[in-house]
Amino acid sequence: MADPVLSFTERGIHCPAADVYIDPWRPVPRALITHAHSDHARPGHGAYLATPLTAAMIRHRLGVEVQELGFGERLRIGGATVSFHPAGHVPGSAQVRVEVGGEVWVVSGDYKLEADGLSEPFEPVRCHAFITECTFGLPVFRWQPQAEVAGEINAWWRANRDAGRASLLGAYSLGKAQRLISMLDPEIGPILTHGAVEGSNAVLRAAGAFSCATVPVTPDFDRKAHPAPMVVAPPSAFGSSWARKFGPAETGFASGWMRLRGVRRRRGVQRGFVISDHADWPALLRAIKETGAEKIYPTHGYVDIFAQYLRSEGYDATPVPTEFGGDEDAATQSGDAA
Ligand SMILES: [Zn+2]
Ligand SMILES: [Zn+2]
Repeated sequence: MADPVLSFTERGIHCPAADVYIDPWRPVPRALITHAHSDHARPGHGAYLATPLTAAMIRHRLGVEVQELGFGERLRIGGATVSFHPAGHVPGSAQVRVEVGGEVWVVSGDYKLEADGLSEPFEPVRCHAFITECTFGLPVFRWQPQAEVAGEINAWWRANRDAGRASLLGAYSLGKAQRLISMLDPEIGPILTHGAVEGSNAVLRAAGAFSCATVPVTPDFDRKAHPAPMVVAPPSAFGSSWARKFGPAETGFASGWMRLRGVRRRRGVQRGFVISDHADWPALLRAIKETGAEKIYPTHGYVDIFAQYLRSEGYDATPVPTEFGGDEDAATQSGDAA
């Protein structure tokens, strides 16, 4: 019997025909990387292949060489043809399409369907087998349109400003932070950024993928020069002395997990905004349907419950364990200092 196009190994998802791994979590000779979040792009691989924007971000974060492959370009590796297709998760994020002998498998990486104005919009890719993330694979997860959340955040900022307080908004430094900044109304006041956020801003600006004006918070930061600002930072920064520079402040956190009251309470933030760079329940189901795939491998999230639901809908669904941390988990629990 021929090898499957992709197989699940202890180092990660492997393509035997090309001898490459996709987002491997242990060091491998050759890695295809869907996007630069730390649970997907890890150090220590022999060679890296990614989209140009993800490559720029990996160089910035890991300081390694990365070969680039543009969206939709096909590359022959051994007996396989591989290509990247927009995942809509963060700028540069890709799904990986692997074709061997006419059989097509797609690895979703992390994805979302709603266009955010920064990431290349998600593109469904027809395939026989789809390895899909399901970070938010429960029916309780349903997102409001981005414009509504933007209205809530700007109203919160305006009210805090009018009360003479700073607004500290916690978000993952790559992707979510830039998305939030692009949603803010700069008429309300200055938008300040933590170094981790500004590092990602700089990489994206250099690539022409981000153009919002921000003020980096430097050690000699003068509070009086920026009254009642919006401060965008990894949430871990809010418990530190760093956050006291801004004087009286309200804290908020933006994540899909804010949909769950218990998580909001544990985070100890005053305000939770429900906004995610991952697909919600209806979007996961739509994306899966649009691939036309019969075989579905849910991974990275509520895999068992989600696979069970898919089977009840007539799919051949098999849950796959991973060591992906989940970027929203990481940002929720420990913050992202990278
Ligand atoms: Zn991610
Ligand atoms: Zn992830």
